[in-house]
Amino acid sequence: MDDSVIDTLVNLQEIDRRNRERALKIEELEKTSAELASEHAAKLGEVEVARANAESTGVQRRELEAVLQEEERRLKDRRMRLTRIRNDKEHEAAQREIDGLKELSSRHEEELITLLEQTESVDGGLKAMEDELQAIADRIQAHAEESKGQVEALEKEIASEQSERERVAGLLKPNVRKRYETVFSRRAGLAVVEMTRDICTGCNMAVPPQMANEIRKGQTLHACPSCQRILFWRIDGEEASVG
Ligand SMILES: [Zn+2]
Repeated sequence: MDDSVIDTLVNLQEIDRRNRERALKIEELEKTSAELASEHAAKLGEVEVARANAESTGVQRRELEAVLQEEERRLKDRRMRLTRIRNDKEHEAAQREIDGLKELSSRHEEELITLLEQTESVDGGLKAMEDELQAIADRIQAHAEESKGQVEALEKEIASEQSERERVAGLLKPNVRKRYETVFSRRAGLAVVEMTRDICTGCNMAVPPQMANEIRKGQTLHACPSCQRILFWRIDGEEASVG
């Protein structure tokens, strides 16, 4: 095996790992955007329910106010009429009507007070929710502004390494390249690892002695039997880890 295959793989992995970090960062920024958007949608739903609630309370209040006004008008009218009635029986009947109206009106007044209290709490709740909605919208805008620049910079960095990445990858035989790329994506961005003291540093499992020997000789490309990562060995690496 050509020694430079391992060097090429290590080199390629370095580029790929940098770009993978960048891609993950972009993904994270996009995930935050999506989370904020769904938070906003949920809050907007709450606000709409609260708005409809406030509106219907308002309609009820205005209706009740109109009813009360009409009752006041009738009461005033009946009282005026009462002063003109001379007949006792008629007077009594008119007085009963007035009493009935007063009772009805006072019941409506109580209802109105309850409704006004409700209005206050419904409006207060709506206001609080609208403030929360605005706060989320502000966060969305701040995040969008901040992440736009970051994503652009990261994409630029990824693109700037692309041609070098292709050049390095092009040095590999197609089957080696395919193997590397498969393990890289399956093993979260770590496809080529060092073997030190017959241990795979990718998964910390022992490499069988025969295979470890061959890896040390650097004759063929070997994959760790446990994690399938491509193994390489360096004499100085071994010394560093022993020392
Ligand atoms: Zn392993």
